[in-house]
Amino acid sequence: MAGLEDLYREIVLDHYKNPRNRGELETPPAVRVEGLNPLCGDEVVVFVALDGDTVADVKIAGQGCSISQSSASMMSAAVKGKSLDEVRKLTDAFKGMLNVGEHAHDEHGEHGNELPMGELEALKGVMKFPSRIKCATLSWNTLSQAIDEAKTATGA
Ligand code: ZN
Repeated sequence: MAGLEDLYREIVLDHYKNPRNRGELETPPAVRVEGLNPLCGDEVVVFVALDGDTVADVKIAGQGCSISQSSASMMSAAVKGKSLDEVRKLTDAFKGMLNVGEHAHDEHGEHGNELPMGELEALKGVMKFPSRIKCATLSWNTLSQAIDEAKTATGA
């Protein structure tokens, strides 16, 4: 029987080989933000189109290591169609899972923001490799920036 780590590795590889929501959106109305992780040479380009308070569409372009690209693919699948509030909570929860950001685990192992993470759990193992955490969070940071710019653009 395959262990959890093998299953996680398969999910990450699947998203790397068959990235979801790959492509571009017309700008405007969508916004385009490029995220770079010079430590690893990763590039993630996020296109976001908002419909009011909802992520109407998201597309991913760019290139880089399997962690950065599969993380971007999983992120796109996780946030598409979600409200901005849900996306913010999911972003916090994802960073908390990797022990970075405002919702990092405290010394008692408490977690401020428990959400069902689905496939995103597959990236939990990255926590053991501090140098790769930036690969996993790159797409999420880029998405946050893209949403901020999209909100400014629509005057929301
Ligand atoms: Zn990387």
